[in-house]
Amino acid sequence: MIEEVHKANEIIGRLTTQIETLEKDSNLDALTKVFNRRALSKYLQNICEQKNFHHELHLLILDIDDFKNINDEHGHIAGDKILIFIANILKKTLRDGDKIFRYGGEEFIVILNRIDMSHCLKIATRILELISRNKLIYQGKSLSVTASMGTTIFEQNDTPDSFIARADKALYKAKEEGKNRVHSELADGN
Ligand code: GH3
Ligand code: MG
Ligand code: MG
Repeated sequence: MIEEVHKANEIIGRLTTQIETLEKDSNLDALTKVFNRRALSKYLQNICEQKNFHHELHLLILDIDDFKNINDEHGHIAGDKILIFIANILKKTLRDGDKIFRYGGEEFIVILNRIDMSHCLKIATRILELISRNKLIYQGKSLSVTASMGTTIFEQNDTPDSFIARADKALYKAKEEGKNRVHSELADGN
């Protein structure tokens, strides 16, 4: 009997290791089922290596506003549900060719292809409206949340880091200006 338990534990241990390896190797974020940061690095590296990239490519970085308060007031599981709720809004709003990544804890990056600046801002504004208007019901309570966004356009000399850094700068300004809004930053500092 003890030997059987021992064997079962060994099998469980092996399976757990296999699952962990598969998860690590996968390109999907386990919680939200959008692409993870590893996939983002590969995707941006690929783009930056291509010479003569002609069409407009927009990077949007979204950061949940006052997310720490949500965790503090409603608990970490409520916070996780909010992350899934936002990922689902992104999935429903964006087209097939658009890419959604979970960049950090409460930050998402979206890459939009072949659209102009005004179209990009319309999409960003629509996403923020959907986030602020829809409510998530958790344990009988209605949770509302807002997010801020920074956007930028890919430049020929960009590296993955410089591309993200510019959008991050725009995000910082959106936060500074009062949150729940979009700010854009172009390579020449406009
Ligand atoms: P700001 O409006 O300036 O963005 O404020 P904030 O509170 O959103 O930002 P801050 O960086 O102070 O807090 C981010 C919080 O996000 C803290 C951390 O506990 C939470 N967080 C990060 N990852 C996860 C996660 O996977 N699940 C949950 N529930 N919370 C997370
Ligand atoms: Mg953040
Ligand atoms: Mg935040």
